[in-house]
Amino acid sequence: MHNIFVVGLGPGKEELMTAEALNALDSCDTIIGYTVYLGLLGERYKDKEFLSTPMMQEEKRCRICYEEAMKGKQVAMICSGDAGIYGMASLMFEIGKKFPDCELTVIPGITAASSGAAVLGAPLNHDFCVISLSDLLTPWDLIEKRLSLAAQADFAMALYNPSSKRRHDYLQKACDILLQHIEPERPCGYVMNIGREGTQKFVCTLKELRDTQVDMFTTVFIGNSTAEIIDGNLVTKRGYPAERKNNE
Ligand code: SAH
Repeated sequence: MHNIFVVGLGPGKEELMTAEALNALDSCDTIIGYTVYLGLLGERYKDKEFLSTPMMQEEKRCRICYEEAMKGKQVAMICSGDAGIYGMASLMFEIGKKFPDCELTVIPGITAASSGAAVLGAPLNHDFCVISLSDLLTPWDLIEKRLSLAAQADFAMALYNPSSKRRHDYLQKACDILLQHIEPERPCGYVMNIGREGTQKFVCTLKELRDTQVDMFTTVFIGNSTAEIIDGNLVTKRGYPAERKNNE
């Protein structure tokens, strides 16, 4: 049996990778991933063989993993954040049906919801959901439905893929749907370049968020009905008795 690692790198810097991920990559001959993520790896793995395909050629990238593993190499497929959260883990399993002599070991990474929440304060500290605004693989109707129902169910939210060149107004469209159920003053926030050079955090209201332009390296957070901005941090409260007393 040939083992292949599917590794989540976390948001960017090595300190935010798990020890298990670092050990797995140390043991590899070949590391395969989208070029940008290979660039994040830096000096530590400079002696490894790096293979890549451009964005949108994900199936080919997965097949290369299996083909290289079949040659007897220890291979890792890398993804940013967690490989099982808008990552390559599922496609690796699907393509793996054709390679019965290979098995996968998925190694978790810190996803942007978690690393971004830490930068912003504690925005997800109650029931929350993660919604991607990318309609490349999900019909926009379904994204709208999820946004609307999540707002009605009072989930705190992390929004991934809030924008791209082609989808520059998607965050605005998403906020318009949320505003059908959530008051315009609702505390929100967003974090750019989490765990990378140029990390920036912002807190704002939902109304202000609607009129904000963000890029694709941004994760957006929507507070639930208990959310409050405390000292510049976005905090979703857990409802401890002490908090309730203070509010009385
Ligand atoms: N597998 C990744 C998510 C990939 S989808 C994970 O678990 O984090 C890509 C989206 O994730 C981006 O559009 C952005 O919304 C978010 N994201 C990933 N890395 C980020 C980072 N370093 N800073 C800010 N947002 C990030």
